[in-house]
Order: sequence, then structure tokens, then C-alpha cells
Amino acid sequence: MKFELNQYHKNISKEDLIEDLRKVAEKLDKSYISRSEYEKNGKYSGTPYISNFGSWLVACEIAGLKTTRRKEDFLRITNEDLLKDILSVSRQLNTKSISTKDYREHGRYTVQTILSRFSTWSEALAKAGLEQTSFKIITDKDLFNEIERMWIQKGKQPTTTDIKNGLSQYSLNTYSRRFGGWRAALLAFVEYINNDEDHANTVQEETIQANKSNKEQKLFEDGKEDITSRRKTSRDINLRLRFRVMQRDNFKCCACGASPANDQSVVLHVDHIVPWSKGGETVIDNLQTLCSKCNLGKSDME
Ligand SMILES: [Zn+2]
Repeated sequence: MKFELNQYHKNISKEDLIEDLRKVAEKLDKSYISRSEYEKNGKYSGTPYISNFGSWLVACEIAGLKTTRRKEDFLRITNEDLLKDILSVSRQLNTKSISTKDYREHGRYTVQTILSRFSTWSEALAKAGLEQTSFKIITDKDLFNEIERMWIQKGKQPTTTDIKNGLSQYSLNTYSRRFGGWRAALLAFVEYINNDEDHANTVQEETIQANKSNKEQKLFEDGKEDITSRRKTSRDINLRLRFRVMQRDNFKCCACGASPANDQSVVLHVDHIVPWSKGGETVIDNLQTLCSKCNLGKSDME
């Protein structure tokens, strides 16, 4: 391996990242490579991959690598491997406790695999000798976020069986205690998605965000006219809107039809049809569901 100072790669394009990831996979003759394998053999560190693609798995997926492990691979992973990896993420982040979110971003296995072995995240942390993150209060929004994630993953309403199988990062008990049962949790979620009551609140939040991104927006604009001043919506797509768009699109990519329900490696995004930078608003009619592959292809053309 060549010795290079990674931090000088300030302007690495997504294409460079994907190309080098493919190159390393080819060199090692592997259909999947972990972040640490890549870092030992690749040109860059793992960090730009996370910042550009959101997670290591998404980067692998876009590079056309296998992101779902075969059953044999899964069975070969020992509990010890999982605990070691949890510890290595905590060392990497220099914290005594890590959240499932941290692990999703930096770990080499899926959170689901860990939960299927240790039943709860707290237990996995305890076995790894780390501190608990459970002091953090789980809000209703956290639970709704997780229901949304599972719903998108399945392409339909998640069931108690899914939760028992480890699809949720929270236990069935957590939902039941909060809402009085799984069905009640789903009803509360649907109500939340359909509720526009806190619209005033959202608008206020959106205005603040719109102002924040004003500067960024100006970079896009050549002319004198400031598009953001006429804007009614923020660039950010909130959970409600995202879910409604995906539901309308049947949890499938509008361009290629891929869905996480059929292929676990598919990651869906909600994307502006008329780009926000070109004056497109964040409203349901200007939004569409795209898989990460089609979404990347699209930004290439812009
Ligand atoms: Zn697609």
C-alpha cells in the first residue's frame, strides 16, 4: 500500500470514491469489503465515504458490491466478532458508549444482526463492557422515526413478528409501554403522519432553516434575484412528507422500480423533481422516491 496523507484529499468527488472502492474490491477479489479492509488497501479514509453517502453500506451498494451477507456468512459471524466491532467503533469515536446510529455509520455489521444475537442494544453494550446509552430519553418522534424506517424497509405495515425478529432497534415492550400496544403504536404513527396541526411550528422551523441555507443558495444563483426570498418551503423534507411521498410511490424507486422489500440493499431517498436550487419547492407534487443508485445518477447529470 502506498503511504498517503488522506486529509489532503479535500475535493474528492463521489465518482473518485466509488472508483477506488471498486478497485480495492477487485484487487482483494471480494464481493464485499468492510471499511477497515478498505482503509488498509484504499487511497482514502472511510470518512469521506460516510460524509458523501451516509453509510459504508450505501457506498458499497453504489459501487455495485454485495451489501447483504449470505446466510453462511451470517452464521460465521461469532458473538465475539460483533462485540469486538462494537468496541472498535467506540474506540474509533473515542466514547464510552455508542448509539445504534453511531454503529450504523461506523460498524461493519448491521444493527439487526447484533440485536438478533443480544436481544437489546443495552445488552450488547453491557457484554462489550461499554456504558449504557439508555439514559437518553426515547421520544415519541424517535419511535415514529423507527416505525417509518421499518415501514419503508418492508414496503408495508411492520408487524410484531418483524419486531421479534429484530427489525426494530427498540423492543416491542418500549412501543407497548408508550402507546398501549403495537396496534396503538401504529395508529399513533398514522395519526402523526396525517396530522398537520403543528403546521405553524413547522413553518417557523422551516423559515429558520431557509435563512440558514440562504448563503448556500446564493452560491447557486448567478442573477440578482434571490429565489429563497420567494420560497414557501425549506429544502429539508420532514418525516411526514417523506413518508407520504414514499407511500404514494408504493415504497419503490420511481425510475427503476427497486424496493427494499424485494432487495435489502436498496436504499430509498425522496428527491426534488425540480431541484430546490432551481426554485423547486418542497411540496408533495415536486417530490419523488428514488433509490440511491438512480438518485446518484441524477445528480451526475445536473
Ligand atoms: Zn432506482
